[in-house]
Amino acid sequence: MILVFLGPPGAGKGTQCKALVDRYHWCHLSSGDILRRERKEGTELGRQAQSYMDSGKLVPDDLIVSMMMKELTKAADKGFILDGFPRTQGQAEELDKALRKQNKGINIVLNLEVDDTRLEQRVTGRRTCPGCGTAYHIIFNPPRQDNVCDKDGQPLVQRPDDTAEVVRNRIQAYHQQTAPLISYYGKQNLVQNIDGNAAIDDVTESMFRILDGFTA
Ligand code: ADP
Ligand code: ADP
Repeated sequence: MILVFLGPPGAGKGTQCKALVDRYHWCHLSSGDILRRERKEGTELGRQAQSYMDSGKLVPDDLIVSMMMKELTKAADKGFILDGFPRTQGQAEELDKALRKQNKGINIVLNLEVDDTRLEQRVTGRRTCPGCGTAYHIIFNPPRQDNVCDKDGQPLVQRPDDTAEVVRNRIQAYHQQTAPLISYYGKQNLVQNIDGNAAIDDVTESMFRILDGFTA
């Protein structure tokens, strides 16, 4: 199974990917998480990506494509979910090319639709566990104890790019550069739209309904 997850920043992709991994045991490849790991480790790639990420712009395609191709090789024999990649038509074409070489192709594209008006509140209220990566929300999905991860007890952190100002740039980048992929994949009949405005568990249920049918 090769699943591509599309949706604007704060739509709930990361949250839903955790539920998908628990149920279907696919690998979760998040380009944002991989970039943040590179930055933490102080690699050359992390350094090059820094200013783009901090201002809410997309990191250039050549850097992202070579980074994700390495991840695809690692996940070669497994089912995987691509979360946050591809994000431009150039990236999507490179992905298609790489998969074709391996006689593979994308099986399904889930398009998580959320109204712009909700995104800023979702993103600015996000708090993440630096240990296990679980995302909480101060209002919509709070941890049991204030600012502490339910799973491993670590103090939660706020991403530096989760500010109101930067999220506006990220939403703009999404509309200009990523949303056109919905019709790119639509032409290949791969897209399933999901209403991401609903509560977290309801969104999970609608994804499971689609994917249970698909994997049966
Ligand atoms: P993305 O990976 O698409 O940027 P996340 O999964 O990190 O999004 O979710 C962004 C924020 O919104 C998190 O704080 C998360 O807890 C919260 N969230 C996710 N899905 C929903 C939902 N359906 N309703 C309300 N809040 C949500
Ligand atoms: P979001 O919550 O917006 O979905 P991500 O964690 O996926 O955030 O991405 C954070 C930042 O990392 C983006 O704003 C962008 O700078 C960079 N990034 C992640 N994936 C890509 C990609 N496929 N192409 C270009 N830049 C990316």
